[in-house]
Amino acid sequence: MKISTRLSAMALGFGVCIQAQAGHDTLYQVSTIDALLAGVYEPVAQIGELMRHGDFGLGTFEALDGEAILFEGRIYQAGSDGVVRQMPPNAGTPFMTVTHFDQDLALTPPTEQSYADFQSWLEAALPSRNIAYAIRVVGQFAQVRYRSVPRQSQPYPPLLEASKSQTFFEQQDIRGTLVGFWCPAFTKGINVPGFHLHFLSDDRRHAGHLLDFTLTQGQVVLDLTNDWRVELPMEPSFLDANLEADRSEALHRVEQGKSDE
Ligand SMILES: [Zn+2]
Repeated sequence: MKISTRLSAMALGFGVCIQAQAGHDTLYQVSTIDALLAGVYEPVAQIGELMRHGDFGLGTFEALDGEAILFEGRIYQAGSDGVVRQMPPNAGTPFMTVTHFDQDLALTPPTEQSYADFQSWLEAALPSRNIAYAIRVVGQFAQVRYRSVPRQSQPYPPLLEASKSQTFFEQQDIRGTLVGFWCPAFTKGINVPGFHLHFLSDDRRHAGHLLDFTLTQGQVVLDLTNDWRVELPMEPSFLDANLEADRSEALHRVEQGKSDE
């Protein structure tokens, strides 16, 4: 979409720079976050199929086997054992969101920012709260906290239950990239409203679902995304799941790594 021209005047007010984009502004996802919350961890697509729709994104693997990070066309598995593996295209996923990453807005965050402050700062700079953004943050972190979830066995428990056995990790003075999305509130049930970011260290040895950080200095790049494609699985695991409950509270706790409260 050619949103750049329309936004340029507005963006000047934010002191940001805009580059022309090639126009692959579709967020593509398989399944829904509520299906994942309900325990639908059966594979509904192969990573290779997802990679036709993007080179950038996140999700998880079949059986909830770790956190998935798609970056620069490579798919990484952040295992709950702390090991980061590059995965083959035939790896299965129950839930994943991807896009072809184009740079629309570049912003420089204040130095030594906490994740909470970063979220307020970046939300204030978003041109609108009614479209989605792919977010890439490259920087030096004084501290970063993240987690990963362990492989589950059938019958699969709901995500809140499964995440009670998540593993927490913390690194200091590390360079890395945050890969993820900001989605509008109205995407509730389909994707994760607000921020959802995964961390990947420069040396590709540390990765997981981001929980907290102190960003010493970095660069934020946003890809404005106004098209959305949701592939609903035709597998029985999805078709038979009860997806009528409001799972917002469970999602909030899972996202923040607070499954035990
Ligand atoms: Zn995550």
